[in-house]
Amino acid sequence: MSLSTVDFELLLQANRIISSKLDVEEVLRAVLELATKVVHAEASSLLLLDEKTDELYFDVALGSAGDAVKRMRLKVGEGIAGWVAKEKMPLIVNDVSRDERFAQRVDKSTKFQTRSILAVPMMAKGKLIGVIEALNKEMKQDFSETDREAFEIFASQSAIAIENARLFSDVLREKAKLNTVFAEMSEGVMLLDEAGQVLMINPAGGCYFGIDPAEATEKKFDADLFNGFENPPRPSDLGPLAQRDETVDFVRREGKDFYLTTFVHKLHPNPNSPEGYIVILRDTTEEKRGEMLKRNFLALISHKLKTPLTVILGYAPVLTASPEGMNEFQKKAAKSILNQSEHLSSLVDKLLRFSIVESGRLKKPTEKVPLTPLLEEAVGALQVFMHDKKAVVEIEPSLKEVPALMIDGLLTVEVFKNLIENAVKFNDKEEKSVTLCSSREDSAVTVQVRDNGIGIPSEEQEKIFQKFYQIENSFTGQVPGAGLGLSLCKKVVEDMGGTISVQSEIGKGSCFSVRFPLDK
Ligand code: ADP
Repeated sequence: MSLSTVDFELLLQANRIISSKLDVEEVLRAVLELATKVVHAEASSLLLLDEKTDELYFDVALGSAGDAVKRMRLKVGEGIAGWVAKEKMPLIVNDVSRDERFAQRVDKSTKFQTRSILAVPMMAKGKLIGVIEALNKEMKQDFSETDREAFEIFASQSAIAIENARLFSDVLREKAKLNTVFAEMSEGVMLLDEAGQVLMINPAGGCYFGIDPAEATEKKFDADLFNGFENPPRPSDLGPLAQRDETVDFVRREGKDFYLTTFVHKLHPNPNSPEGYIVILRDTTEEKRGEMLKRNFLALISHKLKTPLTVILGYAPVLTASPEGMNEFQKKAAKSILNQSEHLSSLVDKLLRFSIVESGRLKKPTEKVPLTPLLEEAVGALQVFMHDKKAVVEIEPSLKEVPALMIDGLLTVEVFKNLIENAVKFNDKEEKSVTLCSSREDSAVTVQVRDNGIGIPSEEQEKIFQKFYQIENSFTGQVPGAGLGLSLCKKVVEDMGGTISVQSEIGKGSCFSVRFPLDK
């Protein structure tokens, strides 16, 4: 006997009910309830597969025995459900007392008297997800092949509905996680479409602009959003900003100065995300204030220190040059005064240069200058230092071919002095070597300062160009410095239109590359 129109109607109805639900618990309950109706059974059970332990468990159970059943687990292979799970085949047992596969412990705990079972595997995308059983055919009849057919159709509909509900709940869980991160981030985040229309903004971002995140979709990346900021952006700036791959500051000077540092990133089209931009916003007011204070302080102390230092540096050489009448201790003291005042003077000079470069009071270069003499000058200025440290510098012949560049000569010497000095300072090798070489492309020339020193960990390689930044072991004072050299190099090189970068391997050495653009 095959399925009747009534059976089909029943199956269709069952399918409509279970596929209309998206909550896993609700789907499971509906499946359990409908299972009895589909094959006219007295009861049903639904066992899900725990892939990790290879066990079947009752996730939902109806009626008074529910709680006891929910604690039970069957190994795959154990009992009739276990056999069906293992073989992935349906099974009809119309007299369980004669079937040794029947596990009596379930009945014992539920006090339900099972006579007959129709059990079928639930498969989704070719994988077993559980077993569904109909217990005791009504009117003490036997389960038939027609029941099996109907139950198998019902099981496959149920498996799809359960899988869909599970996927949906996974998506909801992931979405909730992302929402929490988005809402709790201390940085502002804004999602924009290609035309600069706000699609989403998190509470921190809304706070910077004084808008409610729920109403942000009425805004655009423009002067209205950046209300009160100097030089507010336009939506058409998004593309160029995303290409610059660096942060841009906006300042609002109403009341207390407020600095908002933004980073624009272009979202590339992909089927799961919209085309547009993501903008990260950070309140950098305190950082900027700190920097300004440091700069002003630096400029002030370096100027104030310069005058007394000039006097000390004037007298100290006179003292060391005429040691007559001095005892050994006095001679040593005079020498030490001279050495230390020279060291102090070079530190103060560095601070002064740094504060001048930082203040942006530099003139644009007006003529092209050959590079090699500048490198020779930098090496020459460090000769005594290099000799003391037993370091050798090699200027490769490739540098002679570098054309004259539109650069500031004095500052370029300063950049390479810093790089060469670092190459020797941060070097624990017996034979310290520094190599200067160059390479040429169509539109740029790159000069490299390579050393065989201690190397720089990859996570530090960006940070060392920040002001006052020193890597921990150099910061402990083993190596003199203020963490300003590379920051000065970066500022100077970028002001001249170039870039500076580093490649390094711990224990093997570092290579700093300064890239100057060539004027066409
Ligand atoms: P300073 O030399 O005054 O410490 P810099 O700004 O020149 O400051 O350098 C910052 C930090 O970068 C240094 O303290 C050091 O830890 C690291 N560094 C710079 N150059 C090198 C190098 N050639 N090899 C290894 N570490 C380096």
